[in-house]
Amino acid sequence: MNTKDENHPTSRLEIVKYPDPRLREKCRSVEKIDDQVVSLIKQMFETMYSSGGVGLAAPQVGSSLRVFIANPTAEPGKEEKVCINPEIINSEGSLMAQEGCLSIPGLVCKIKRSQRVILRAINLDGEEFTQDAEELLARIFQHEIDHLDGILISDKMSTVDKIANRKLLKELEEQYADNH
Ligand SMILES: [Zn+2]
Repeated sequence: MNTKDENHPTSRLEIVKYPDPRLREKCRSVEKIDDQVVSLIKQMFETMYSSGGVGLAAPQVGSSLRVFIANPTAEPGKEEKVCINPEIINSEGSLMAQEGCLSIPGLVCKIKRSQRVILRAINLDGEEFTQDAEELLARIFQHEIDHLDGILISDKMSTVDKIANRKLLKELEEQYADNH
């Protein structure tokens, strides 16, 4: 999916890829929503849409702030969520489903997540909100919060998926080693 507007300069950021150590940092809370944070979030949306993602966390673009964005529809302007300093305050049930990650291109694996969660976070206006989420949105919330704690789906996948994806991960590790 490509949503790039050719009439405007793109402010798409580079996506940090596995096994870059920046994906392993525990992110720090946002103290103040200043111009830098606002601009980061705007650029994150452009990056997410141009990559065809439904969620993106700050460490995936090289920032170590506790911020993620989500849009389960992947359509710009619709159901956009900005979650600053997010926490899951309640969760229920469990559901196994397939996930991918923009930072681990090519990896698709089954991950067990809570079926329903209540998220508490701060929006771009600095207001606290809670959101009750199920299914895909609940899954996105859990996946993105994991990123803020340095956790990736490759850590959580089953042994079968680990074996099936060993070659893919090894190739990404070699690519990273070649470029660093
Ligand atoms: Zn991810």
